[in-house]
This record gives sequence, structure tokens and C-alpha cells, in this order.
Amino acid sequence: MPTPHSDSATTTPDPRLVEVLEKVWGFREFLPLQREAMEAILEGRDSLLVLPTGGGKSLCYQAPALIRDGLGVVVSPLISLMKDQVDSLVGNGVAAAYYNSSLDPAERRRVEKALVAGQLRLLYVSPERLAGAGAEDFLRRLDASDVAFFAVDEAHCISQWGHAFRPEFRLLGPLRQRFPGVSFHAFTATATPRVRSDIVDQLALEDAAILVGSFDRPNLVYRVFRRADLAPRLRKVLERHRGEGGIIYCNSRKQVEKLATRLGDWGVRARPYHAGLADGVRAANQEAFSREEIDVIVATVAFGMGIDRSNVRFVVHAGAPRSIEHYQQETGRAGRDGLPAECVLFYSPADFAGWRRLLRASGEWSDHAASLLNAMQRFAAATRCRHRRLLEYFGETYDSSACGACDWCLGELELVGEAVILAQKILSCVVRLDQRWGIGRVVDVLRGRNNEKVVGSGHDRLSTFGLLAEVSVGELRGYIDQLLDEGFLRQSGDEYPIVQLTSHGAELLRGNLECRLYRQEQPRKQPKRRAASAIEDWAGVDRDLFEALRELRLEIARERAVPPYVIFHDSVLRDLARHRPQSLTELLALRGVGEKKAADLGPLFLQRLETYLQAS
Ligand code: ADP
Ligand code: ZN
Repeated sequence: MPTPHSDSATTTPDPRLVEVLEKVWGFREFLPLQREAMEAILEGRDSLLVLPTGGGKSLCYQAPALIRDGLGVVVSPLISLMKDQVDSLVGNGVAAAYYNSSLDPAERRRVEKALVAGQLRLLYVSPERLAGAGAEDFLRRLDASDVAFFAVDEAHCISQWGHAFRPEFRLLGPLRQRFPGVSFHAFTATATPRVRSDIVDQLALEDAAILVGSFDRPNLVYRVFRRADLAPRLRKVLERHRGEGGIIYCNSRKQVEKLATRLGDWGVRARPYHAGLADGVRAANQEAFSREEIDVIVATVAFGMGIDRSNVRFVVHAGAPRSIEHYQQETGRAGRDGLPAECVLFYSPADFAGWRRLLRASGEWSDHAASLLNAMQRFAAATRCRHRRLLEYFGETYDSSACGACDWCLGELELVGEAVILAQKILSCVVRLDQRWGIGRVVDVLRGRNNEKVVGSGHDRLSTFGLLAEVSVGELRGYIDQLLDEGFLRQSGDEYPIVQLTSHGAELLRGNLECRLYRQEQPRKQPKRRAASAIEDWAGVDRDLFEALRELRLEIARERAVPPYVIFHDSVLRDLARHRPQSLTELLALRGVGEKKAADLGPLFLQRLETYLQAS
């Protein structure tokens, strides 16, 4: 692997970058690694930037494009996002355009003309435009224009080790020879080293600056629940986020339809999204979500690649995903604007058995798939800091002792008294069942269920029958998950896994070891503590004023046929409702307001502020 980029902590950043950031975007600071990534482009040194979703990757190629001579070509697989990105750029006064199959002939000619005339700083294209049949025409136009660099977004699509392999990306490699002296810059949110080195190889990056950021998303609050309590807990989540944007992921179309209907009954503006819907319906639902005409989208994993709504305040998983990579990717769609957002996972062991069946049936089962799935299952059952757990999974160390943003660190899990005795009851039931049965049977026996299966096997005569009759299924299964996670129990066999004691488990049963067990707070109770950051971010914000400004934003967005976040991010609206600027100068001082936007939108927002303040 090439050497990492030199340490820049001791030098001052390129003043041209500082100026562009402030003037065009209204940002006064770089996010981690942004400066390094931008400087690599300014120097024309190949680079790979790995940052989580919301880490600010797009700015890394946008800002340098305004400084370097020539054109920055952005390759992106997401046609639906190009328009939004370009609208945002144009809104900030940047000469940008996109070129893909969605353009009509007249629009296409307009872009071609601007390209040849050298009027563009940034051009977004789909990989198909640059490679394969029919690309030659366009490539000749690029030859004739002064291309300064290529930025390859979602670069993990080039790797078959990634979760979103797109064969057409493989055709990008040969571009290197065609454009000698033009630097290549890759961007991805996929953390695994294998994918990283594959990107470097496939794009033939030379002496590249490899910039890998932290994958922690401190503004995301993670919570995990057993699905037994789905309805009351989901309602709570929706109440906490009334009128705010959210995504609910389901593992099946049937569940999507069921939940979407139920949300409708609850009075939530929600729509379904899955592959079984007609193309037109699906696109319309996505569009409605993007434009904030609805609040919640209930979807299968098919949803998300083309979604750029930055103010998604919650992501719920109504079932466990098949890997931590998927979980990270999907929860990553929350809080891209940096404001607090919540990620709630509801799971049941049935989810994992379901994935095993499905992956087998589709021929995707392998040791690799199994280990990904097991890691996800351990994450769900874990009773430790979720931020730490996620980071450690991706090979990072986590320094903070309490994140303040997960169910564990917020003290939402209750320590169970007499945990050893409870554990011993469970372990001895496993032993009485000869260590030959699955979790379901252990639970049935402990709870004293008289069903046909239990009675038929004579398990109602075991001494552990009904020993924990008063404990709910969800709670009991939670304890078993924890005993598995702590290494007192283990599971073997894939399809119908059985539970067995480990040597640690045997010691615990004999009373030679200690253990702790936790349980979820009961649904009715209030959370003990709230994330400090979640409170802070509304501190000083007049909520009614915020809503009034949000309404104005929606009006403008409708008029201009762009999604609301292209006008202003939520963070800017909150700042407006907090600081109530009275002049353009005061407005410009807010983070996220550049000169073009202040001139273009400032008067409208200042006027609305004034009207509101006079009326109140
Ligand atoms: P990614 O492409 O990595 O998912 P984005 O480029 O969409 O991330 O950026 C995420 C958010 O961070 C956007 O709302 C963007 O405006 C904001 N952002 C980017 N750079 C900065 C910065 N230097 N200061 C403040 N906010 C920033
Ligand atoms: Zn934590």
C-alpha cells in the first residue's frame, strides 16, 4: 500500500481553500481529513478518501475544483443524486452540470456546449458515459476540454468485495491511459481494507494519499430492542420525532406493507418502498420523501442508494440486517446534517435463522456470509457501548469511556439483581435438555409452556420446567443472548442451532464465576437520562419560528422544484431560529450560509423572521 499522506497539523491550510469554503459554503472549519483530501487534489496527487456517510466527502472534490484550472469530472453511480448535487452547487453559485441518460437532447446539447466552451468547473457523469459502447463521442469531447481531475464517488462499487459491485465501474481503469497527467481521486464510505486495496488496484492509483477517517458517528444514538415489544416502542420513536423524517427498514415486502398501513392508522405520513411496487409508484414515494411531502418511508434495503435527504432524524430496523456493514450503511443515512439522530434496531433470533435460509436458497451462503451474520447477532445481543462495539468491529479503537449516545451508556439498561442465580437456572435447563435443543425450546421449558412439542418430548417433567414462568419471552431471550455473547453458552449448527454450555458456563453453573445480566427498561418508563447533545441542539431554538422557517423553505423548494435541503439544511434553520439575524451580514455569519445563498435567499428569510417576530 502507498504511504499515508504527510502530517499537516503543523502547517497552515492553503488560503485559497479557506476562502472558497467560507465564501461559497459558509464553512469556517474543515471536517476531519477534508483539508488533506482537498490538498491532494490541489497537488494533483492521486488519493483515496474513506469517510463514513455524512463525513463531508463531496466538498473534498467540489472545493478544489473551484481553485484548480480546468474541469473536475465526478463519476457517480447515482443518477438520481446528481441533479440534487448539481442544484445545490448552482444554488451556491458554482458552474456545475450533469450528463447522464436522464437528459433530453436539448439539455444534452446545452451541457456539451458549456463543456467545450470551458465554462464548467464540475461535471457529474455516470460511469456508462465514460466507458463501454457509445462512450467514445463523449470521451472525445472530454479530450478536447481541459480535464484537471477525476473524482470517483462511491468507489467501492468497483470492488466485488464491496456490497454494491457494479461491473461498469471496472471499465474506468483504462481511463488512466487515456488521460495521462490527470489525477484520480476515489471516495467511499466502505471501511474494509480489502475493498480499499481493490479500489487502489482497479483504478491504478499511483503513490496515492490514503486517507481513512474515523467511522464513529457521534451524533447517532443507538438503541437495540427485542422485537417482542415492537409496536409500543416504535410508537414512542415516532412520537419523539413527530413531523420529522425517518426510514424504517424491514426484511420483507410483507412487513413493509403491514407497517406502512399501521403507521397510516397512527396518523403518520408514511409510504412504502420495495421492489414489488411499480417503478412509477416507487419513484413517486421516494420523491415525496426527498421533498418532505411525507415524513416516513417504510422500505426494504432496496431503498437508500439514491437518497440524499440530510435531515433524516431516525432510522429504525424492524428486523436485523445480515451484517454490521449493512447496519452501518443503513443507519448512516440518519443525521447526515450532523444534528442528533436516533437509530433503533428491533431484532429476534428468527431474523438470523431467516437470513441463513434465504442466503442458502440464493446460493450466497459461505463461511464469510456466516461470520458477517454472527457478528451482527452478537452486536444485537451485546450489552456494552454500541459506538465502541461498532468501531472495534471496523478495526478502530474507541477512546471515550462513555459515548453518551447509546442505550448502554445512557443507562437505559437495567442491571438485574441476583444475576448469577438467574443465569444458573438458564444454564441448568440447557443441561437438562442434554445440550441438544435450540433457544426456543429452552425458553418454552423455563417458562413452563404446556404445548404439544414440549409435552411430546417429555420436557414438562424436567426439574427446570416452569422455573422462570414469570419472565417474558423477550426478556428471557435477551438473557440467553447475553450469556451467548459473554461466552457462557455457545450455539452450534446453522439452520437449527442448538445451545450448549462452554467451559465458562460450566464454571458459572458450579458457582465459581460471576456474571451480570441486563434487561431493557420497560416500555412505559421515561428514559433516565437524555443525550446531552440531543438537548443542546435545540437549545435557544424557538420551535415555532423553526417551523415557520421550515414552511418558507418548503414553499421555495416547491417553486424551484428542488428538495428542501438544497435550499438550506436543518442546522441553518435552527441557527436562524436561535440567533434571529436582522441583516445580511448577520445572516452570513451563520455556519452553512455562503455569499450566493445569502444574496439569493437572505431577503426572503429575513423578511419571514421579521414578520414572525412582529406577530409574536
Ligand atoms: P458524504 O458525501 O461524506 O456522505 P456530504 O458531503 O453529504 O457527506 O456532507 C455531509 C454534510 O456535512 C453536508 O450537510 C455538508 O454540507 C456538511 N459539511 C461538509 N463539509 C463541512 C464543513 N467543513 N463544515 C460544516 N459542515 C460541512
Ligand atoms: Zn455508548
